Amino acid sequence: MPYQHILVAVDLTDECDPVMHRAQKVASASGALLSVVHVVEPMAMAFGGDVPMDLSMLQQQQYDQARQRLDAFAGKYPDLSEDRRHLTYGQPRQEIHRLASEQGCDLIIVGSHGRHGLALLLGSTANDVLHSAPCDVLAVRLKKSE
Ligand code: AMP
Repeated sequence: MPYQHILVAVDLTDECDPVMHRAQKVASASGALLSVVHVVEPMAMAFGGDVPMDLSMLQQQQYDQARQRLDAFAGKYPDLSEDRRHLTYGQPRQEIHRLASEQGCDLIIVGSHGRHGLALLLGSTANDVLHSAPCDVLAVRLKKSE
């Protein structure tokens, strides 16, 4: 059965383009809609929880910058109209799953670095998204040269 609505998770690095190119191919083969999501992670998470200062202003700046970067990225792809660009705040796996369910997506596409060794033990967002996903997940292998 062809996919109807594909959600592409983007970390807003240069690696998003190969992931997006693959997503466009899958979407055009299925006649599916394409949406993108970027998740801004709370700064406190990066510091491991308790931070003895108010990060709200910095977080607002981080969010605003992410919005600009997401718009600049999505602007390269005519299919990604403003209502298909989602910026959310929280933990990437939870937010990507929540949005996929909310938007009725039947495929999530992420990039995968094909890590091994210690990095594999520590996991990756691609791995994380796969677990208890509400729909199919396609991990696009990112080569070092891409
Ligand atoms: P990584 O965990 O860095 O290997 O990321 C692998 C893939 O997870 C990326 O190519 C994106 O598809 C997705 N991803 C990572 N971080 C985010 C984020 N903050 N928001 C949305 N997707 C993300």
